[in-house]
Amino acid sequence: MSLPSYKRILLKLSGEVLMGEQQFGIDTDYVARLAQEVKDARDTGLQICLVIGGGNIFRGMAGAAKGMDRAQADYMGMLATVMNALAMQNALERLGVPTRVQSAVQMDQVCEPVIRRRAERHLEKGRIVIFAAGVGAPYFTTDSGAALRAAEMKCDALLKGTSVDGVYDADPKRDPAAKRYETVDYDTVLADNLKVMDASAVALCRDNNIPIVVFSIREQGNLARVLSGKGTQTIVKKDA
Ligand code: UDP
Repeated sequence: MSLPSYKRILLKLSGEVLMGEQQFGIDTDYVARLAQEVKDARDTGLQICLVIGGGNIFRGMAGAAKGMDRAQADYMGMLATVMNALAMQNALERLGVPTRVQSAVQMDQVCEPVIRRRAERHLEKGRIVIFAAGVGAPYFTTDSGAALRAAEMKCDALLKGTSVDGVYDADPKRDPAAKRYETVDYDTVLADNLKVMDASAVALCRDNNIPIVVFSIREQGNLARVLSGKGTQTIVKKDA
């Protein structure tokens, strides 16, 4: 299915894709490969905002499950997303792509704070802006951060690059009969609790009419294929 030609996208990468084949942390070779794909997309003239999760390092829910205070654990999760953002910034700049990291938790020595107008200017100048620390508050995820920045930066679409190639009506790992949707509307995703992004992120995209394109970033070259309409993906949108 062909996608409309986007001028500006928000690309959300789950933290776990930065692990490559590892069980934890950051695989720098794999991050370099991801950075090359992002560069290739940007070299077509596309403006790119990036949001990277932190699940490869720390998730607040996992800390809370082991008895930590949830908010405290979530702060640690937010810091993990900053580490990932810096890793990706490094990989992109090694390829000669100018980038800026803007964090929702202020860290002046390390990166800029989130300032929409400044981010706008970076994009106009061809820089990639990596938004770190989600929405900057506990009890949220980077999916919500991605939806928020996509709305704030008026992105044409939110592309969610993850380990599966779309949205299924059941868990494809457990149910061999699970079917992948080509398109599905926001309300079905919410009512059927389909695994796309958390509900607050989906609702924010719905309310701002931002299509969500779910695809596998693990397949090499897939970002370009998806952007050119030749990839495998699910599009969550209005009136699907
Ligand atoms: N987090 C948070 N507020 C936010 C974004 C993230 O508290 O606005 C914390 C939360 O603990 C989360 C962790 O950061 O578990 C890592 O983000 P996420 O789970 O979204 O990463 P992903 O699953 O995409 O790798």
